[in-house]
Amino acid sequence: MKCPKCEQAMEVVEFGTEISLERCSGCHGLYCEREILARMRDEWLTETVLDTGCAAEGARHNDMRNIICPSCGATMEHFQDEEQSHITLDTCLSCDKIFLDAGELTDMKEVTLMDHVRRLLSMLGR
Ligand SMILES: [Zn+2]
Ligand SMILES: [Zn+2]
Repeated sequence: MKCPKCEQAMEVVEFGTEISLERCSGCHGLYCEREILARMRDEWLTETVLDTGCAAEGARHNDMRNIICPSCGATMEHFQDEEQSHITLDTCLSCDKIFLDAGELTDMKEVTLMDHVRRLLSMLGR
């Protein structure tokens, strides 16, 4: 499988027995099922072990639009993370898989003060 952003080879990486995903050997983007992403958010240290790319490199790739899903060839949708709206991800709606740029998993696991403030405001109905 080739990376949808930089066309380098993707390699399978694992964390424990429950988490398996593909990581690009070029830009170090991560490609996984939505369910795996949920597990990575709950497990300790997944970002340290799996998100080995450099965030600055990930940020360069983050603005790419209309990337093609490496599994099925559909155009992936760009969307904002529900909990942390400053993070944008690419998802394939037909495979239910997600592409994370390098650094995004690490970013996700650090819920920032601003995210808490935004959530509080939305609960207050702003
Ligand atoms: Zn790549
Ligand atoms: Zn797909």
